[in-house]
Amino acid sequence: MSATAAAATATTSPLPVLGRDVLVPLVTGGEVSYAALDYAASAPALQRVWDDIAAYAPYYGSVHRGAGYLSQLSTDLFENSRRDVAAFLGCRPDDQVIFTRATTDSLNLLAAALPQGTRVFVFETEHHASLLPWQQREGVEVGYLSAPRSPRQAARTLERALADWRAEANTGAALVCVTGASNVTGELWPVRELAEVAHAYGARIVLDAAQLAPHHPVDIAALDVDWVAFSGHKLYAPFGAGVLAGRADWLREAQPYLAGGGASRKVARKGDGGVDVEWHTTEARHEAGSPNVIGAYAIASACKALTEAGFESLVARERELIAKVRAGLAEVPEVRVLSLFGDDAPRVGVISFVVEGWNSSHFAAALSAEYGIGVRDGLFCAHPLVRTLLGGEPGEAGECGAPEAAPGERSLNAIRVSFGAGT
Ligand code: PLP
Repeated sequence: MSATAAAATATTSPLPVLGRDVLVPLVTGGEVSYAALDYAASAPALQRVWDDIAAYAPYYGSVHRGAGYLSQLSTDLFENSRRDVAAFLGCRPDDQVIFTRATTDSLNLLAAALPQGTRVFVFETEHHASLLPWQQREGVEVGYLSAPRSPRQAARTLERALADWRAEANTGAALVCVTGASNVTGELWPVRELAEVAHAYGARIVLDAAQLAPHHPVDIAALDVDWVAFSGHKLYAPFGAGVLAGRADWLREAQPYLAGGGASRKVARKGDGGVDVEWHTTEARHEAGSPNVIGAYAIASACKALTEAGFESLVARERELIAKVRAGLAEVPEVRVLSLFGDDAPRVGVISFVVEGWNSSHFAAALSAEYGIGVRDGLFCAHPLVRTLLGGEPGEAGECGAPEAAPGERSLNAIRVSFGAGT
């Protein structure tokens, strides 16, 4: 390449502009050597969470399994964490708060607990954690809803599907699963409206709040949803726990998610061999085995820290950050930001884009290597949605880790930058 061509390439490349001018100043002021802008995957722990865990660590003990001081203290801490999470979510008095491994685990637990014959309605735009667990469950049918292009269209699409389902003279149970904020576009979904539609047709609704809870208050009663699922590691509490909270009836009646100690209240030897089991009807039913007390406590600590910081100011600060990043991206003609509901849709700090003429994987790698900015590239475990946004054909499958398009070809993957005001 001639010196002139090289200079032209250097000055027209969007990489320095995005790296140096848009993303680095966003969180670092240019002062630190590495900025992890991948909060949607896992957010850094809040200082308060580190401090609380460090203060508890010397007293760590078994939960529900000991008469000693450390065991009693750990049991109290675990059960108090459950109450703190219930308060954070505005749970109704009869709701259960089950500690799980993360959102994926929570939604699989709920899928396992559905009554036989339940029809599940889910938009094909969902993250795989809320798209896939239902079809794995025998005796449950899934109705996939096509990608809406506005929140109103989402409500109308759901209403039509539920009306058709009822018109089939269906008396069984139905569940709607919807995400609160997209992990691809950051756009907010009309949860309250969808809950109203679901309930009008006698269906229940579970909210995948993995991306909503770190950014906005999630009030189970105010949103009128039946269950909420979220992950600690996206809520600044990265110690391997998550939550499924909501109505107790189906959970109490379902087979335990895992069989073992803690879930069983009484196990008796039968006269003819084998054992009879009486299972707990509380949260313990689905929490067999020694629970992750550090993870649960970390979540409770993050919930309290966010509540004390005040969502109003967190939302306002995040809105400023979003506006800044979007304005920066808009200055680069090669950039196309991905959106389902349009530019004016309310959103959280999750922004995905492609850069014309660039391979997304190479671009993301260069942001890390050359500018110390960690972003994510790929299909973000929402293959159908990303394919739709990139103009892919129906049936064109995504594949984690698949080779990207060559420079100049239509991009198969996107780049995602995500952040929050919590840290
Ligand atoms: N739902 C959404 C919207 C997500 O973004 C994610 C993770 O990225 C999940 C569910 C799954 O969360 P986890 O991997 O913590 O189980």
